[in-house]
Parts: sequence; structure tokens; C-alpha cells
Amino acid sequence: MTTFRQVLDALERMHGAERWHWTAESDPFEVAVGAILVQRTAWTNAERAVDRLREAGALDPTALSALPAGAIEELVRPSGQYRTKARKLRAFLDLVAAHGSLDALLALPAPALRERLLETWGIGEETADVIALYAAGKPAVVVDSYARRLFGRLALGPAPDAPYRDWQAYLAGALPGDAPALARFHALVVLHGKRLCLARRPRCGDCALAPRCAFASAPPLSP
Ligand code: SF4
Repeated sequence: MTTFRQVLDALERMHGAERWHWTAESDPFEVAVGAILVQRTAWTNAERAVDRLREAGALDPTALSALPAGAIEELVRPSGQYRTKARKLRAFLDLVAAHGSLDALLALPAPALRERLLETWGIGEETADVIALYAAGKPAVVVDSYARRLFGRLALGPAPDAPYRDWQAYLAGALPGDAPALARFHALVVLHGKRLCLARRPRCGDCALAPRCAFASAPPLSP
């Protein structure tokens, strides 16, 4: 039986030296903007939009709020669904304004912050937890498709399509409760999902988890 600790150790050995784009030193507003822009697209597309906002001097709440909707749409166009994403950014800016500042919003206790974020149009559970973890430094467990795929293939955790809260409860029960450890875990899982545990044709031959992996020992038959 594979333990969670064994999975974590293997992920650390495989990807521990690799860099992740969000760290404890990341600018909180940039994290929040990136978390919204990366919805339904690859990080490279979201990153291009974040870069355009930075080059336009719009990567702070005051500067971005001063821009007309059309200008925001144009700047975030590389992230796809740019009109919707510009509206989501505006909704987040309204939330920031309602609390007086981004610092004040992020200083809310973790449950209150999550609640405020989830009440905001365009922010779902995964985005809210990314903002809480990386922008606010709160101990939030992020559940994403990479975690569902990896643990599903290892035959650990709930069913891959189980509700977010079920996965969150499973991971929270297995992980240390501090924010740096939770951020580290999330980063390692995403790096693994992008580099080896691909949705199609995972590179099991290069994966240290292969001897413990149900998928690697009995991959589903092709249709
Ligand atoms: S062995 Fe393959 S399917 Fe299993 S975790 Fe590694 S890359 Fe993913």
C-alpha cells in the first residue's frame, strides 16, 4: 500500500529542484490576478497576460481600477475568454475596494477570506484557495486537476471526479497544516502533472512512482 509520505518524498526527489512561479515572495496582487487569468487556460497564456499588465503599469489595484473595461480586455487577451476575465478582475477589484485595500482583504481570518472570495463573481473554490494560499499565506489546500489525476492514478483518495470538498478533506487529512508545506505540495503536484503525469501518454518510464502506481502497472486499454 502506497503511503502519502512515499508519494511526497518521490515528488520531492523528482521535482524538488525545479522552480514554481508562485512562491512566498510573490507579489500578492500578481498572484490573485494570475489565479483568475489562468482559469481554463495554460499558465503560459495567463503569464503573457500578466506580463502585459505589468508592462502597462497596471499590476496594482489602483492602477488596474483606473483602466476602462476595454483596455483591461485588450491587456488580458492572451489568457483567452478575455471579456469574461476582465469582468472577473473587475469583480475582484470591487472586493478589494469594499475592504479598503488588498492588505486588509488578505488579512481577514482564513474562513472569512475564503467566504468573501467565493461570494465574488468569477471566483470558484480552486481560485479562492490559490489566492488564500499564495497571496495571503493562509493554510489552504488547493485541489486541481493535477492532484485528482495523480492520486487517482495511484489509486489513492476519493474518486477523481468527487466533489472538491471531498478531495480537500482527503488532502488536508494527509498533509501538514502550515502554508509553506501546503504550497510546496501543490507546486510539486503541478510540476509532476506538467512534466510526467500528463493527461495523455504519461511518461511513466521516467517516474519514480511507477512501481507504486496502479495506472503504470495496468494502464487502461485503448478504445
Ligand atoms: S507512473 Fe505514470 S501514471 Fe503513475 S504517477 Fe507516474 S507518470 Fe503518473
